Amino acid sequence: MGVSEVERTVDAVADAIEAIGFECTRCGHCCQGLDGDHTATVFPGEIRTIEERTDEDWNGIARPMPFGLTEGAGETFEWALQIDSCGDCTFGSFEDGEHRCAIYEDRPLICQTYPFSLAPEADADPPPGVVDREGPVRAHECEGLGREISREKAEALAETLIERTERERDEATGVGDNYRPTDADGVVVFDSEGPKRPDGTPLDDES
Ligand code: SF4
Repeated sequence: MGVSEVERTVDAVADAIEAIGFECTRCGHCCQGLDGDHTATVFPGEIRTIEERTDEDWNGIARPMPFGLTEGAGETFEWALQIDSCGDCTFGSFEDGEHRCAIYEDRPLICQTYPFSLAPEADADPPPGVVDREGPVRAHECEGLGREISREKAEALAETLIERTERERDEATGVGDNYRPTDADGVVVFDSEGPKRPDGTPLDDES
């Protein structure tokens, strides 16, 4: 199989996840900003689902992805889950020493599939943060790696990982299709639906 011909069937991805091994210990590290603020991507549709299931508004759920912004101004792409003053995901908390997620059933695809991602190709040179890899699957830092996982769970995780990868591709295409330069003041966030203000309001609504 060539470098760009990685097999991404559920079976192949589940095989790789089984080979790496994983069981979440609920340490909560992936929800915390241990090396800087937490920046888990959340897509517009995922934000709306969380809005419907919680009392939070757009700003309570998401913030503009901070890359490219300076002093509260500039253009950025996509949204990150909202953080607290410690840089941790605002929906995480600890109870009796165990980490809990307030939006567990509706958490974004990236949270559902951590610590795994699918390589765009058979990485000859994986990016920083990848601590293990097997076939098409990359594993990122996580204390639950290396633990036995059932075939059933590996296949379910593989299905979600493939869904996430396809969604990321579609969202990125939407961002590209809807991008247009703007001279608007303040922060403008480009997502797959077009330019928005940090509170999720379409920029077009201002005209
Ligand atoms: S870092 Fe790994 S083990 Fe810890 S909560 Fe996240 S997925 Fe679970």
